[in-house]
Amino acid sequence: MNIASVIVDVPAHQTDKSFDYVIPDQYIGSILPGMRIVVPFGPRKIQGFVVDVKSDSDFTKLREIVEPMDLYPVLTEELLNLGNWLSDVTLCYKISAFQAMLPAALKAKYEKNIVLSKNADPQQLILPLQQLFLDRKELSWEDAIKMGILSEVQKEAANGTIDVVYEVKAKVRKKRLKHIKPILSVEELKNQKNNISARAEKQLKVIDYFIQHHEPVELRRLLEELHISSATVSSLVDKKILEELEVEVYRDPYQNRQFQKTLPLKLTEGQQKVIEPIQQTILINQHKVFLLYGVTGSGKTEIYLQSIQTVLEQGKEAIVLVPEISLTPQMVNRFKGRFGDQVAVLHSGLSAGEKYDEWRKIHKKEVSVVVGARSAIFAPFENIGIIIIDEEHETSYKQEETPRYHARDVAIKRAEYFQCPVVLGSATPSLESFARAQKGVYELLSLPSRMNNRSLPAVEIVDMRDELKKGNRSMFSTSLFEKMQDRIEKRQQIVLLLNKRGYSSFVICRDCGYVVNCPHCEISLTYHRSQQLMKCHYCGHEEHVPQNCPDCLSEHIRYFGTGTQKVEEELGKVLPEARVIRMDVDTTSRKGSHEKLLQAFQEGKADILLGTQMIAKGLDFPNITLVGVLTADTMLHLPDFRSSEKTFQLLTQVSGRAGRHELPGEVVIQTYSPEHYSVVLSGQQDYDQFYQQEMMIRKIRRYPPFYFLTLLTITHEDLLKVVSVTEKVTKYLRSKLSNNAIVLGPVASPIPRINNRYRYQCLIKYKNEPVLTNALKTILDQYQQEMIKTGLQISIDLNPIILM
Ligand code: ADP
Ligand code: ZN
Ligand code: ZN
Repeated sequence: MNIASVIVDVPAHQTDKSFDYVIPDQYIGSILPGMRIVVPFGPRKIQGFVVDVKSDSDFTKLREIVEPMDLYPVLTEELLNLGNWLSDVTLCYKISAFQAMLPAALKAKYEKNIVLSKNADPQQLILPLQQLFLDRKELSWEDAIKMGILSEVQKEAANGTIDVVYEVKAKVRKKRLKHIKPILSVEELKNQKNNISARAEKQLKVIDYFIQHHEPVELRRLLEELHISSATVSSLVDKKILEELEVEVYRDPYQNRQFQKTLPLKLTEGQQKVIEPIQQTILINQHKVFLLYGVTGSGKTEIYLQSIQTVLEQGKEAIVLVPEISLTPQMVNRFKGRFGDQVAVLHSGLSAGEKYDEWRKIHKKEVSVVVGARSAIFAPFENIGIIIIDEEHETSYKQEETPRYHARDVAIKRAEYFQCPVVLGSATPSLESFARAQKGVYELLSLPSRMNNRSLPAVEIVDMRDELKKGNRSMFSTSLFEKMQDRIEKRQQIVLLLNKRGYSSFVICRDCGYVVNCPHCEISLTYHRSQQLMKCHYCGHEEHVPQNCPDCLSEHIRYFGTGTQKVEEELGKVLPEARVIRMDVDTTSRKGSHEKLLQAFQEGKADILLGTQMIAKGLDFPNITLVGVLTADTMLHLPDFRSSEKTFQLLTQVSGRAGRHELPGEVVIQTYSPEHYSVVLSGQQDYDQFYQQEMMIRKIRRYPPFYFLTLLTITHEDLLKVVSVTEKVTKYLRSKLSNNAIVLGPVASPIPRINNRYRYQCLIKYKNEPVLTNALKTILDQYQQEMIKTGLQISIDLNPIILM
């Protein structure tokens, strides 16, 4: 068994297969599938994943593995297979799939070093290098650049006296703390006391300490406890009485928090009915997908907790996925409160080091539950008993970059392997999932009423066109304004949702309608008041607001639309006594600020929480009795067939924030499209009716869940090139696919240019096209050279969520 099959870290078509390498004698038996290693590849040394270890190869003249990078496999057999599957279903390279399963910190970075060649004599080198290599073996590439000696290096490299090597180094080191431990036994320590002068009081104190606590202790703690300096400890280390050691510790982001221990609640009859089938599948090791459809506040989380309990009792593990923005301390508390240290948490707010530490706890099986955002679906557990996806309709479960996977699909794939249930939970399930439940592919479990039969909040829909007719030019309707006043008097809390970011959206000429667009991207620039600038959200382009309209020279050119900052200002004017917390991308970009703002609101430090969609989820504060949606229709007009579904979900979710506890809740939805069914039905919280109506439209327009979609987006700086490639690709697909498939294109993308690259697309709608994957692969192969050489990009998104 001295041959390793390796997937090398070169994301390209030619290298998307395993290469065989010889395992050097000293590593035989210690290199295993799932480990990362360094291998020679062409002139370079690169990283790779061992996917198999075997005793012979079909190839001759194999090269040797340079060295292992891991002591243990970082990917299990199951994850390696999952990676192959991911690469098949999302058309990504295997190496990209493997990398996606690991925390960022493990993704190695390559460092270039300049070294002296074997047998070369440093005395023979050109002057500056001669000096440098007399007392060192290598010089980093960066240092060489800094010293400005690159041309000398180049000359020597041409002579063969100097080499450049690529080294793979892990980005993040484990956090280690210096500990001190006694070398001598307790008896010997007691004897040693006689050899130490009585004046060395402090040294004696340390020895006494170790006579009493004969175990390693963190250096810092020892110094603090005994009020001594590190010199005292060093002298004992020098005398070979004590020794230093480095102990690896975890950076636990939650270590300073106290978690109130919670006990399982007695389930209601309704909850009992839905948990039984879940527990049944856990006990008999059966794979099933459940759709837990329950209005907000119906007790879904308690179902998750008690199902996990059953899983843990079986000695198995659980994965819980939560959308990134609902991964609030509140949410984490509910799991940590029930399962304590058995829970690891993975989300993007953690530093790379913290994420790595959480991942290692999972890897070492020190925890049995992981709660995390999308990528936590790859948690390296080996005995999974349940996978739960909360708010399963959330679009953030789809990764928008390679590999373009949906966490739901990965969850089902893993659960099939482990023969365990998947629970998809939502108050507003995605149409896809609900349709599958209707067809019996998933098992539908419903929790139709709120806990203690608390009523859903009363929803009022306000037609903003009428407000304008009545002469109300404010962004608050009369009704919403009066209700806000009322809550502030009663010291109750208000949530205001504005579905946008920044101070206002775009700059428009009021006379001719000219809108200031990005010169590179064909989308309107967003006005940022704090910097008095207009910015492009795609490419970062910035410019000042023009004094006059570039088109008609009118002076009436100004920003239009409403942003959170503007609402905040307006609130300051009309409700000066109200304390407001604003939460949007700008106020939450710093690590931990999201949590802090929520915490402050929970502690009653503000009357109004004003924010973008990030406030729509997960909030469960008893004092919120009013929710206002300032503009319900901002999403309705996006060029996306899911815009109604997304509007319905957002409005329903945000309405669910009100009146979850003793105090009843009210919701006011302001809109310019009060008759739109997604607004009307979210007001009635009528998912079933919405589902019926939306399904009809999807059927007529041939969209998911009736048809599958695949989107090809082709981009290049040269418009003619983009059009001609898209034409060829579209034609090819038409020739390959059946007559039942609908191939739309070539057309310009909804955003036709980003960062000076033109964008064209081809959209395929289909029900069953077995040859599609191969046709797409052929396209990628065909254009690979061009993609490398000319910067042409072809991105393929199977089951896209974003169609722009
Ligand atoms: P969801 O996840 O569906 O929004 P939650 O699980 O948050 O609902 O439940 C809403 C509230 O009801 C929470 O405060 C929760 O503690 C409480 N709750 C849930 N189940 C029970 C139960 N069986 N008995 C008493 N209270 C419960
Ligand atoms: Zn104008
Ligand atoms: Zn731009």
